[in-house]
Amino acid sequence: MRLSQMLLVTLREDPAEAEIPSHKLLVRAGYIRRIGSGIYAYLPLMWRVLRKVSQIVREEMDKTGALECMLPQIQPAELWQESGRWDMYTKAEGIMFTLTDRQGREIGLGPTHEEVITAVARDLIGSYRQLPVNLYQIQSKFRDEIRPRFGLMRGREFIMKDAYSFHTNEESLRETYAQMDQAYTNMFTRCGLKFRPVQADSGAIGGSASQEFMILAEAGEDEILYTDDNQYSANVEKATSLPVDAEPSSFDKYEKLETPNTPTIASLAEFLKCSPTQIVKNVLYQAVYDNGMTVLVLVSIRGDQDVNEVKITNELTRQAKNYDATTLIALTVPDEEAQQKWAAKPLPLGYIAPNLGDDYIAKAKDIAPKFLRIADPTAAELKNFVTGSNESGFHTVGGNWGAEFELPEVQLDLRIAMAGDRASHDPSQTLQTARGIEAGHIFQLGLKYSKAMGADFMDEDGKPKPLWMGCYGVGVSRVAQAAVEQSHDENGIIWPVAIAPYHAIIVVPNIKDADTMAAAEKLYGEMNAAGIETILDDRPGRAGVKFKDAELIGIPYRVVTGRSLKDGKVEVVQRANGEKQEIAIAEVIATIQGWITEALH
Ligand code: ATP
Ligand code: MG
Repeated sequence: MRLSQMLLVTLREDPAEAEIPSHKLLVRAGYIRRIGSGIYAYLPLMWRVLRKVSQIVREEMDKTGALECMLPQIQPAELWQESGRWDMYTKAEGIMFTLTDRQGREIGLGPTHEEVITAVARDLIGSYRQLPVNLYQIQSKFRDEIRPRFGLMRGREFIMKDAYSFHTNEESLRETYAQMDQAYTNMFTRCGLKFRPVQADSGAIGGSASQEFMILAEAGEDEILYTDDNQYSANVEKATSLPVDAEPSSFDKYEKLETPNTPTIASLAEFLKCSPTQIVKNVLYQAVYDNGMTVLVLVSIRGDQDVNEVKITNELTRQAKNYDATTLIALTVPDEEAQQKWAAKPLPLGYIAPNLGDDYIAKAKDIAPKFLRIADPTAAELKNFVTGSNESGFHTVGGNWGAEFELPEVQLDLRIAMAGDRASHDPSQTLQTARGIEAGHIFQLGLKYSKAMGADFMDEDGKPKPLWMGCYGVGVSRVAQAAVEQSHDENGIIWPVAIAPYHAIIVVPNIKDADTMAAAEKLYGEMNAAGIETILDDRPGRAGVKFKDAELIGIPYRVVTGRSLKDGKVEVVQRANGEKQEIAIAEVIATIQGWITEALH
């Protein structure tokens, strides 16, 4: 292509809407344009990048025997009601765009396709002989994100590769999951990215094991905790660790002490001259389920630790059936207004003890009459601890489970793991931290959707059984931007060769000079014919501006038909390291081909 005809509009200034380098650069270099919040036009250069990423993803999927298909983006509400996710996706997280058709039927715009594919599988899969099978598609997804931001990183319409596998048993599922793990490793390696697979939370999708692929970058929204031996890496949402040891308590007698103005752990520890590790902190949460039921939750955790909201959300989701509900709609720390709705009397906030009476909860049919009490092991292990007294201005010291306090029946790891904690698998190592961009996520879903939607197959023994399922996503548009986040400098983008929109750009410093123009045209034709994807900057204008644009759009190799032409040479610049060299025209193609082969090896 000729740049003069490519609708390339570059900007010298950073766009006001952009916060992170990759977003700024993609807008400035003419790759994307914002149409609305979280909605972008992919301009021709971007579309080439997206097609390249998609093609790598496609090839790696095809290699495993997965089959490409295309599923509808318009999805009937009934399918989501069958799986039990309609309320969660429309009310709780509210991430699904919905609309009503002319017949008054509700429809969702596909944020993901478990329901649709399970309906297809239910129809098509009759026998174990058809299994295993893995279907995938590459298409736009729609999610009404609460905070769309960072350009393509968190869009409301974005491109995803999603795959869904079906199996006769768990072992077969594990095999495909391992194949996907390898395919993902291949994809991200081929895209030229630095990444790290991490253990992940399975979230609203459900199921058991899951792993995310994180592209490492400071601007990443996710925190990764890992050990230097690489035996452990996990998303902080999922991570576990060994907390620092608690200091032994010196309060060997149980008593209530006046502790004025000590509603926080820090103020209390200072007042009592004790360590926060000797305190049992009690945190109140309010859960609301899809059947309208409100449940008050009291979490006891060691004073120096914090509750991981993802872990507690998962536990409360698991508990839904105990309250005749199917899904959790909201989990909050109740503010004053919320407390007024259920508190029978004012709460001793800042001074709550694990035995806060259930009579604090007003009697109503949509409010669970008892606190759901949960103890994190860090609290459950403490002896002679300090905690609240359920009376403002007073705490108790020297308390023990099984004596003054009843240990909650539910004991569960709910704490946030932190950098510096000791690793569970090897306490001699401490957890390190890094930031990452979630590029892919693979799940073992198990039987969740097949059971809910009645997707059975006939097994060898002639009995109907639910299908085992896995699902595997890659954020194609997010990956493309993440590559820029990982690879740029003050002058612009530095595309990895594998996903660059073009391999080379020929810059003609002065298009009015007939000789240089003729040489450039000739080279342009020959390079493209030789398979080097090349654009020709044949625009009028100053050479300096063209060089700046070439750097900004980040094409790996720049060829300049300049002064050295008289010696039969051109200048060739490598974008990644800035190296310039004069090369005989006859050797340009072989040289660049050599670099490309090396980069893609
Ligand atoms: P996140 O935690 O970032 O919201 P997710 O866990 O909801 O993502 P999945 O449902 O696992 O995402 O989707 C598969 C992949 O799609 C993700 O790994 C990510 O790369 C991509 N993705 C998800 N949401 C978006 C979005 N709003 N914009 C761009 N890509 C996205
Ligand atoms: Mg995910």
